[in-house]
Amino acid sequence: MGLPRIELLVTDLDNTLYDWVTFFSTAFYEMVPVACRLLDVDEESLLDEFRDVHRRHHDSEPPYGLLETRSALRCHGHLPVAEQKAALDEAFHTFDRARKRALRLYPGVRETLARVAASGVPIVAYTEATMVNACFRLDALGISGLFAALYALPGSGDACVDPDRCGSPSLVVRAFSANQRKPDPSVLRWISSDFAVAPERMLHVGDSLVGDVGAAKEMGAYAAWARYGTVYDPVHWQCLVRITHWTDEDVRRAEAARHHHQGTRPDAVLSEFGDLLSMFAFG
Ligand SMILES: [Mg+2]
Repeated sequence: MGLPRIELLVTDLDNTLYDWVTFFSTAFYEMVPVACRLLDVDEESLLDEFRDVHRRHHDSEPPYGLLETRSALRCHGHLPVAEQKAALDEAFHTFDRARKRALRLYPGVRETLARVAASGVPIVAYTEATMVNACFRLDALGISGLFAALYALPGSGDACVDPDRCGSPSLVVRAFSANQRKPDPSVLRWISSDFAVAPERMLHVGDSLVGDVGAAKEMGAYAAWARYGTVYDPVHWQCLVRITHWTDEDVRRAEAARHHHQGTRPDAVLSEFGDLLSMFAFG
């Protein structure tokens, strides 16, 4: 029997194309001591303040979230925003430098995306990161031109994103709503309909067995599990949990989804992204 024929590739971004857990935790925790010094606050207090900001945005990486911490507001809240940013410039630069160093594609990702794109199969990015952060990462990694579309969550900072385009002139950006979060398959159905490709010709790749694999199997698409994306230093994960936006309701929802999808199996398990090329026929 031949390989499954795929006419539309939908891929998750964080921990599927690059290690978000490691790069974000690294950049965030290099910024924190600098911010503590500038704001004259201890680290545990500032982390508590960050967690409150993240919960308010329902997002653990709102752009310039530091400006909204109680300590920053106490020190600079009376200033115009440009001056608030300038006062914490050293902290923001520390974050940017670390991110530039740590944000890297997993091995084989660029080459594999290029091969799939060259076969004529459209590639769609589907992420629960916010539009502004997803666009930034695709641009920073130099791969936005390989995607036909990006489906992401709206968020604070989206004013910086053109509603229909980000870095690549050919990339269409679509926002879905917070009540369509993975593993709800409605966004995958929307993508299937936008590209007029039947679910049985669609492949969805992601590192979450529940969110990515569960959603794909529920709507009848092929699912590849990016197992390599679940391998990182647990210390980085614990650092993120310390400042996460997740509420008790989010945890309950995740538990329910895990229960619902406990029998779900992926069609392929990937040791690296490039394994896709030997497991599926594109085009
Ligand atoms: Mg992911």
